[in-house]
Amino acid sequence: CGIIGYTGHRPAIPAIVEGLRRLEYRGYDSAGVAYEEPQGLRVIRAEGKLGALDQKIAGLDTASSVCGIGHTRWATHGLPVERNAHPHMDGDCRFALVHNGIIENYAELKAELMAEGHVFMSETDTEVLVHVIAKGVDLTGDVRRGISWALSRIDGAYAFALLSREHPGKIWASRKASPLLMGIGTGENFLASDIPAFLPYTREVVFLDNGELVEIDAGSWQVFDSLTLEPKTKEVKHISWD
Ligand code: GLU
Repeated sequence: CGIIGYTGHRPAIPAIVEGLRRLEYRGYDSAGVAYEEPQGLRVIRAEGKLGALDQKIAGLDTASSVCGIGHTRWATHGLPVERNAHPHMDGDCRFALVHNGIIENYAELKAELMAEGHVFMSETDTEVLVHVIAKGVDLTGDVRRGISWALSRIDGAYAFALLSREHPGKIWASRKASPLLMGIGTGENFLASDIPAFLPYTREVVFLDNGELVEIDAGSWQVFDSLTLEPKTKEVKHISWD
């Protein structure tokens, strides 16, 4: 029920877990993170409170990872157990995705993908979204165009953030009827469901509208129309409250 993305210069995982804690008020039943390792994308998930996720992370060396995504889940499709917790990956572990909302036509899409040989590990609607994106990237040869293709096939509400193994330091995100905004730092950028998640780090915020797609890395951010991929001009707002 809360999502976070971080790309920058500081260790990503502590900033992400701290951000998830600041979104705890939104409620959740499980949590998870994904981050970049030299060998590929690593996903850590746990049922229950953030403390359970913290314990799993404590045993790992995540300090060198400066890009990642995190999620607190409020289950809508599939039990609140670890295999249904986010992030979810495509079958080849090229992408990791966190999502808030509901993909209304996930059952039809899942049947279509299974007929094409896709194998699913969870009962969630979200896992279908990351598989459709992977298919879109294969069809178009490009992550931004692949996401756009996928979104033209998706009905429902979403805010999501996506990591690609082939593009270290980058995060893609989009929203429709679920909250998502961007925090603009110096040599670092954030995505989150709500401002408190990144308020310790930056007060410069870009509010995303429905149907917008963003691409961020440590030093830049760009916003597009998610269907036409026309670039959009956005205003950076300064938040003065605590
Ligand atoms: N529908 C997704 C799920 O059940 C996302 C739920 C959420 O917004 O946390 O996993």
